[in-house]
Amino acid sequence: MKRIFSWKMNTAFMVLVLVMCAFLLSGCADPKQSAAENRDLFAMDTYMTLTAYGPQASSALDAAEDEIKALDQLLSTGNPESEISKLNHDGKSILSDVSAYLLQRSLEVNAITDGAFNPLIYPLMNSWGFTNREFTVPDEGTISEQLQLLDLQDMHFDETTKQVSFDQPGMMIDFGGIAKGYTSSRIMEIFAEQGLTSGLVSLGGNVQVLGTKPDGSSYKVAIRDPEHDQTFLGIVEACDEAVITSGGYERFFEDHGVIYHHILDPKTGYPADQDLISVTIVSSDGTLADGLSTALYVLGVAKGSEVWKAHSDLFDVIFLTEDHKLYVSDGLRDEFTSNGYPVEYITAEIDHT
Ligand code: AMP
Ligand code: MG
Repeated sequence: MKRIFSWKMNTAFMVLVLVMCAFLLSGCADPKQSAAENRDLFAMDTYMTLTAYGPQASSALDAAEDEIKALDQLLSTGNPESEISKLNHDGKSILSDVSAYLLQRSLEVNAITDGAFNPLIYPLMNSWGFTNREFTVPDEGTISEQLQLLDLQDMHFDETTKQVSFDQPGMMIDFGGIAKGYTSSRIMEIFAEQGLTSGLVSLGGNVQVLGTKPDGSSYKVAIRDPEHDQTFLGIVEACDEAVITSGGYERFFEDHGVIYHHILDPKTGYPADQDLISVTIVSSDGTLADGLSTALYVLGVAKGSEVWKAHSDLFDVIFLTEDHKLYVSDGLRDEFTSNGYPVEYITAEIDHT
């Protein structure tokens, strides 16, 4: 009898130990860790959704919201009081740390993409009416004039003093192609500083995630299918990564039956025309992912794949072409699932055919 009693006690104790171990090992066993808190806001011309998990979720979301508003104030070209608007007006400035960082990162993306990303694109965006929604197709003369203003040799930037100046009047900076990715990276940093191990942000469909979901599984990020509104082109399983997409469908106008979109090719001055619907970049570096999504949309599949081959340690890419095929870099073989589109993998091997 005594034996049975002690056996029962031992079993009960073991079960208790096992439950406690499971509890300690799995964040999802703690309701405080797995409870999600969401926040929706509109900033940077975009609807944003932030999700945070854990006991510090509320304060992390407050801090993230403050940061988004501060960055919007600093970088917005639509706000005449922003640092970038003042620089564009004066032609010279000593930049804040954030703007200097974005300029330095923009130049880095420019360098690895043969100039496809150009932070001086603003005057050209203006000529097409994308900055004030007064859309117009500029004449050839205007385009060739504006192309002169894209010459990075005419911008002087000292990374140490953060001093920047333009040689030509009319030169202007636009961080529209990189600022949202920087913002999502900052939000991840803020979440981590607040002690969070799990969270995500979606800035108009551009997603960055912190860690894994509280149950330890990867976040499943659906990439919008621009051709079919209610569906998605595929799913990326992400962990500590940004999944950022660019495409002409995001902003465009029609003139005499021709569609003109907002991602401009700095070599021609016209909207990039590479038979692409969208480009998605997956990277742990949100700022880089944003810059590259814009740049690789300009470059197209062939040249864009070369950029991936040279920097496959930094990012992965998914191209959706107008003939409805997906070209996916090899690094995503296990992390990406197409939603019905045929997939061709881009590999680093030399093609001997
Ligand atoms: P995204 O949605 O990240 O591709 O960014 C598009 C925005 O980037 C545009 O609205 C412009 O503000 C800016 N942009 C357009 N073309 C370029 C380019 N070739 N290089 C850098 N920024 C660009
Ligand atoms: Mg971009």
